[in-house]
Amino acid sequence: MSQTSESESRKLLGALRDTMANDRAGQARMDDITQLIAQSMGTDVCSIYLFCDDDTLELCATQGLNAEAVHQTRMRLGEGLVGSVARTKRLVNTDNAPQQRGFRYMPETGEEVFSGFLGVPIQRLGEVLGVLVVQSRQTREYTADEIYGLEVVAMVLAEMTELGAFVSDETGVGALHQRAVMFRGSVGQEGAAAGQVYLHEPRVVVTNPVADDPEAEHKRLNDAVETLRMSVDEMLTGAGTGDKEQKQVLEAYRMFANSKGWLRRMDEDIELGLSAEAAVEKEQSAARTRMNEVTDAYLRERLQDLDDLSNRLLRILTGQGADTGAEMPEHPVLVARNIGPGELLEYGRKLRAIVLEEGSVGSHAGIVARALAIPLVIQAKGVTTEALNGDQILVDGEQGIVHLRPEDTVTTAFKDKIAMLAKAQDRYTDIRHKPATALCGTTISLQMNAGLMADLPSLENSGAEGVGLFRTELQFLVRNQFPRRSELANLYGRVLDAAQGKRVVFRTLDIGSDKVLPYMKPQDEPNPALGWRAIRVGLDKPGVLRMQLQALLRAANGRALTVMFPFVAQYEEFTQARAALTKAIKREEALGHILPENIEVGAMLETPSLAFAPDAFFEDVDFLSIGGNDLKQFFFAADRENERVRKRYDSLNVSFLSFMEMIVDRCSKTQTPISFCGEDAGKPIEAVCFAAMGLRTLSMRPASIGPVKSLLMRVNLADVKKVIETARAEGKMSVRDDIAAYIRSLG
Ligand code: PEP
Ligand code: MG
Repeated sequence: MSQTSESESRKLLGALRDTMANDRAGQARMDDITQLIAQSMGTDVCSIYLFCDDDTLELCATQGLNAEAVHQTRMRLGEGLVGSVARTKRLVNTDNAPQQRGFRYMPETGEEVFSGFLGVPIQRLGEVLGVLVVQSRQTREYTADEIYGLEVVAMVLAEMTELGAFVSDETGVGALHQRAVMFRGSVGQEGAAAGQVYLHEPRVVVTNPVADDPEAEHKRLNDAVETLRMSVDEMLTGAGTGDKEQKQVLEAYRMFANSKGWLRRMDEDIELGLSAEAAVEKEQSAARTRMNEVTDAYLRERLQDLDDLSNRLLRILTGQGADTGAEMPEHPVLVARNIGPGELLEYGRKLRAIVLEEGSVGSHAGIVARALAIPLVIQAKGVTTEALNGDQILVDGEQGIVHLRPEDTVTTAFKDKIAMLAKAQDRYTDIRHKPATALCGTTISLQMNAGLMADLPSLENSGAEGVGLFRTELQFLVRNQFPRRSELANLYGRVLDAAQGKRVVFRTLDIGSDKVLPYMKPQDEPNPALGWRAIRVGLDKPGVLRMQLQALLRAANGRALTVMFPFVAQYEEFTQARAALTKAIKREEALGHILPENIEVGAMLETPSLAFAPDAFFEDVDFLSIGGNDLKQFFFAADRENERVRKRYDSLNVSFLSFMEMIVDRCSKTQTPISFCGEDAGKPIEAVCFAAMGLRTLSMRPASIGPVKSLLMRVNLADVKKVIETARAEGKMSVRDDIAAYIRSLG
């Protein structure tokens, strides 16, 4: 870039910053800016277009076009050259605009006399706020230097817009992050809650996009990059030879942190007058735009890494840490891109609701949210860019909808919804102690899933007959190191105390896949869901399993004990695990400890293979429980954490229901008690269909017991079975519509 264009650019940015400092109104400021840019670039026209709603751009200020067109000329996203810049997030540079494909003539602007056209998006972190355009009479294309200069100016305009520099009635520009916005995501956990945003990782705010002293900014950037490099190196050393994926991310960090191209571009931005943090953000914005364009999963991941790295760099430069010390609001609603189960457990029940930009139903964070009975909406795209700490937020976990900074009317309607749900809850309380008996007279045993001590009061409140699944790994996930045997024995003992004689099925440690213990060496596995997890870890690392079994035996302290092994894929794994238990019992006996009065030993059926195990297996186990979350992912070969594929396969798919029926038939031949404890058991329609397929015990999160029981009491399971059989005979893929119609017919 030439010296003259550099100093010209710095002069222009300096002048723009002065417009920020003066106390002119928003419109006058924008007018000044268009004039400054046109003058500095020697163009006939400079115009600013900003979004006036989600898909309409408005001409907000111009130098060179008809003044009357300001706030009159509007175009939809994708319409004309300006609309196309906004939609594609890409610049348009043409020497003959009227001839350019997509050009739309706006007579009120008088722009047909201008041939040369350069439009660049005004964007912040990949989000387009408007379009900045320069035009000239002359038939000319703009040079690379001019384009680059205009992009830098657009970046400053984006920051100014973000900081509210153009807000006024006259401009019609409202302050950003103040409008009501609705996000449509997916249901992670039902329920509704109102509260205030609490960002898991607040974004960095750049308050000084323009800087006078490029030397000082280069130094700030270099120092920050050096600090960043050192911290990445430290992380890499810390990671050792462990997890391949984690290492891959860190290597990518290191590659970017040393990337000459990345650093050079930021240095060039600084030369043109941007501050170091604005330069980082400009490149981050460009990377985000690319991220939305590339379809290659690997490349997207690397761009995601660059985004994370840019955030780290911004935090170093601005001193704004991930923990900004923002106080937790009274009714916190956690907003995050994604979150692990351990981190979520740390927040615990303080949270009113959770909204994730990514996330998936089958993830263990989802399971933790459900265990905590906190409404969860996942896949709420853009929520972390839009939400600010403390914003009012309404989370509708029933519909997967989030209202940020809602209008009063929405808040009122929402309150009605919360009241309605509370009323339904009251109805469920009324039937809490009644058996879940269907009209045909069949009674289904409804049990609850748990994992925390705090879940136990729900045993009484929900009317559950027992704990059908106690996920012991949650206790391991909340700690920084392996819990001691005595700690575990104490906890399990308290669980049994709280259960007051009701049966509690303790599932032994189910780690691996996405449930990674922070203090255990991560595994280098290409497919963790199919990898070293659950009982496979237990059998290969007998010390941990032994310790847990001893803790369980001591906790029982003479009471009945029920133990279930997770993810058993073949008979032998069960016999080996049970042998470990037998050995532990013998040892306890030898040590003189009191033994449980009765021990039941079961397995989870989570892989299709186990449904085809020999009869001897079915005769040998004391009980089985279908882990539908895992079983469904393996049955359909669709990752439970991948929303795109997970959603394709309905749990009411006839093949899956037939598979359930087959498992129930096998169990009835050997009289093996069988239950279902995956998330689907807690969905009323699914629960009714499983019951029609012959399952007599369902275990679910406590909040689902009321709705499931309420529906079960209204249906005749023989009729439900008939509906399923008819749908199956007709070759239907899913029975959902037919069952929904049957339920409607009940009135
Ligand atoms: C299941 O797979 O259905 C199950 C209950 O286990 P988890 O969800 O903990 O893997
Ligand atoms: Mg499972």
